[in-house]
Amino acid sequence: MLLGSPGVGKGTQAQFICDAFHIPQISTGNIFRAAIQSESTLGLLAKSYSDRGELVPDELVCSLVKNRLDDADCQSGFLLDGFPRTIPQAKALEAMGVSLDHVIVLDAPLEEIVIRLTGRRFHPASGRTYHLIHQPPKVVGKDDLTGEDLVQRSDDNEDVVRHRLDVYQRQTAPLIDFYRKQAEQGKTKIAFLSGLGKIEEIQANILNVLKG
Ligand code: AMP
Repeated sequence: MLLGSPGVGKGTQAQFICDAFHIPQISTGNIFRAAIQSESTLGLLAKSYSDRGELVPDELVCSLVKNRLDDADCQSGFLLDGFPRTIPQAKALEAMGVSLDHVIVLDAPLEEIVIRLTGRRFHPASGRTYHLIHQPPKVVGKDDLTGEDLVQRSDDNEDVVRHRLDVYQRQTAPLIDFYRKQAEQGKTKIAFLSGLGKIEEIQANILNVLKG
């Protein structure tokens, strides 16, 4: 499981871990974004929360994850990215009989996070992400491969970003202590890594933890 504030790099690292270990990425944020794009009932509901930077209610998220974890591709392992995000979600995960081999906590300073999130752009059809400063596309505002327009996530504007970070501090950061205690009891392993620096360096640090 990857734990850390929005914009710390969980999504980027998740893709790498899933490729390296041949496991599916369970990203509740991606599930909600896909539902929003398809304008399903779930999507409309999720949008009403995510546009304001609020969390979708625990019960809904947990039943969604429970169903997803029943799928055949999850039977020999998976990576959780963006779930659990509250203590009740973590308890629900335990109640599903899931034990986590590793909890990786990624950390970066608040102002860096704000710059990362507000500068983030993506290509809706492929999910490819860019950053105005850190990873600009070859042509301003256009996807490198298709030339199609890049867009900003509706929850990446500065006001919503600050609110999401506040929600993270209040509702998600307490999970760090929750899993630290679980690690002390031998129920999981926890590692604290910096989310700053080159993507490849962070990948190497993660591999060290997962293979160690
Ligand atoms: P993310 O891409 O992980 O930042 O998620 C985008 C948005 O989806 C969040 O701001 C929430 O509104 C919603 N979301 C994603 N994961 C969860 C979760 N585990 N619990 C509640 N809401 C979530």
